[in-house]
Amino acid sequence: MVDRPLTLMAVHAHPDDEATGTGGVLARYAAEGIRTVLVTCTDGACGDGPGGVKPGEPGHDPAAVAAMRREELQASCDVLKVTHLETLDYADSGMMGWAANDAPGSFWRTPVEEGAARLAELLRHYRPDVVVTYDENGFYGHPDHIQANRITMAALELTGMTPKVYWTTAPRSAMQRFGELMREFGSDWEEADPAEAEVMPEIGLPDEEITTWVDTTEFGGQKFDALAAHASQGENIFFLRMGKERFTELMGVETFVRVQDTTGAALPENDLFAGLR
Ligand SMILES: [Zn+2]
Repeated sequence: MVDRPLTLMAVHAHPDDEATGTGGVLARYAAEGIRTVLVTCTDGACGDGPGGVKPGEPGHDPAAVAAMRREELQASCDVLKVTHLETLDYADSGMMGWAANDAPGSFWRTPVEEGAARLAELLRHYRPDVVVTYDENGFYGHPDHIQANRITMAALELTGMTPKVYWTTAPRSAMQRFGELMREFGSDWEEADPAEAEVMPEIGLPDEEITTWVDTTEFGGQKFDALAAHASQGENIFFLRMGKERFTELMGVETFVRVQDTTGAALPENDLFAGLR
């Protein structure tokens, strides 16, 4: 018998990643009575400021951006009914190659052992049955996403805990559709970038390598609203333009690779908690 509710912990890099990557599973499992813990590692200070002002541009105040994004994060968690929000508040490292990568206090510059020790405390406190984070490339190479993967895997090793562990991914079969919609809804937002379509196939995995497909279409509206809570970030506007229905069609199934398991649940599976209940 367990002395605590079944628990899902998602470890994300920035405010808004919880919505795009795992909004569906967070909403679905909360609705099923599972305790949901979101750990957000950075303050998101390298995000867009009010009015869409970009980092490094005049009027971009990192502290104000961080404060705004903290409020957006809370609003998103309210929509997704996240039961516990934990923030590590490392400084956003910006995209790979930015000076912010090496700024004091940046997540990227933080020794893995240090971040892992803090996350290990949270693991010991919540004792999650399922842990979700990014793959070793941070899905698309963002330093903070890579670091989130590193501290999560190191923290698990530190605690010796053996939850089911998943890395988020996307099926290659969905990428073409994604590219089409990007052109349709992105064209007057920014110059449609033909290189984008070529970069796309490098992201995600061939369908047969995906172990876990979770249908969250019933929660597409919540996922959309959670993302809408982060409307200050320009890259989210592309999704919001689609409207709930098409957004859910595109983003309604969340996919993962299972990298640690002691339940023996057969693969492919359609439930992160398969074998646990
Ligand atoms: Zn991010």
